[in-house]
Amino acid sequence: MSARILVVDDVPANVKLLEARLSAEYFDVMTASNGTEALALASRAECDIILLDVMMPDMDGFEVCRRLKTDPATHHIPVVMVTALDSPADRNRGLEAGADDFLTKPVSDVVLIARVRSLTRLKMMTDELRMRAITSLEIGMQAPERSAVADTGKGGRILLVDDRQSSYERLASLLAAEHTVDVEPNPTEALFHAAEGNYDLLIVSLDLNNFDGLRLCSQARSLERTRHVPILAIADPENSTRLLRGLEIGVNDYLLRPIDKTELLARARTQIRRRRYTDHLRDNVQNSIEMAITDALTGLHNRRYMESHLATLAEQASTRGKPLALMILDIDYFKSINDNYGHDAGDDVLREFAVRVRKSIRGIDLACRYGGEEFVIVMPETDLHVAGMVAERLRRSIAGEPFAIHKGTKRIEVTISIGLTTLEQKGEAVADVLKRADTALYRAKHDGRNRVVSHAA
Ligand code: GH3
Ligand code: MG
Ligand code: MG
Repeated sequence: MSARILVVDDVPANVKLLEARLSAEYFDVMTASNGTEALALASRAECDIILLDVMMPDMDGFEVCRRLKTDPATHHIPVVMVTALDSPADRNRGLEAGADDFLTKPVSDVVLIARVRSLTRLKMMTDELRMRAITSLEIGMQAPERSAVADTGKGGRILLVDDRQSSYERLASLLAAEHTVDVEPNPTEALFHAAEGNYDLLIVSLDLNNFDGLRLCSQARSLERTRHVPILAIADPENSTRLLRGLEIGVNDYLLRPIDKTELLARARTQIRRRRYTDHLRDNVQNSIEMAITDALTGLHNRRYMESHLATLAEQASTRGKPLALMILDIDYFKSINDNYGHDAGDDVLREFAVRVRKSIRGIDLACRYGGEEFVIVMPETDLHVAGMVAERLRRSIAGEPFAIHKGTKRIEVTISIGLTTLEQKGEAVADVLKRADTALYRAKHDGRNRVVSHAA
């Protein structure tokens, strides 16, 4: 998935330069020449990351950043300040305004791309969570946005992994001004400690004796219990290339020694705030949604969830100019299964049907039980041709293998008919998409069932 980067600079030559470098790495680039324009684009959710010049007439980058970070609609978009100024005071002004990082002009290609890639991954993950949380909000749950904007990022629980006593004592005392800090000088214990401790942030030194700090970071990323804990790496300047490697493997941010107190605290707060926000989203998604929006018989999403999430998916597809496929699946002659073998056998078929559907689709596809024996599958970033292949595969996975009923003592043939369509570009109402898929399904039934019929937008 390619991210869309908004480059904001009042000097056209600077915009061109960054645009060329980012485009060469296949990022989508949009540009703005002043703060007002940038805020408008960001509030329409059209960009994933913002590269923001500091020195601009009218509204400077600090102010633009502050506004982005205090608006519930944009606070989650990563902001990288780009500037010719490189005093600690300026860095800290940017970080205080909520910036996620700071690049100095002339911007090094390697650093730029490493940072943008790492923020892209973060943004994609947050987006997925946000989208689902927005859906849960629409069906009556609390918004995490407000508390995220109000969060100071203080009062976090931090695990500091550093084996140099002079270094960890100083860092721990600096951090203690705002957080609770545990120190782990033994890197081989650190992963265990991190997994047990429910931390908001791991700070890992990459200058450990006889131990590769990056390995620890990568292990923390793959372990279930620590996967979502942000990591801030610290290294001597001669280790700076390893820091870039760190960003690739999932380190969230870094600092070079000697550590500036204000910068350390600002970066820690940014990570902790982000961590709480995504945790909050994740909790929302996990706790409430699952119960409220799942169909009890099949474990698939229910119709209510599908209808509100489909609107979000359709809107995103339109904004981004990406295709979106939708199919309605209906079991053939299902009534006669009930009539011939009983209602419980019908239920068995529905459950097994859901299992086969889940096996045939991707994690980002949305499958739901739309009605009794009618199902809808929504496939983001999928065109009619590919969706047609998925539908055909699904049809075969049902017709090709009889369904077990009566506790496995009997097997019966089941077939389905599928109506398939895609979203028209730009803002088509989801009701119309559903109607088109339904028309295609009607044709599939009419033409003899056990088949897929596509209806192009
Ligand atoms: P067609 O091929 O035209 O789709 O025919 P059909 O028999 O599948 O369609 P129809 O809409 O006539 O019948 C659907 C049946 O599904 C009727 C209803 O009793 C049954 N049904 C709906 N929900 C459930 C359920 O949760 N469990 C069981 N066992 N049956 C259900
Ligand atoms: Mg039906
Ligand atoms: Mg049917």
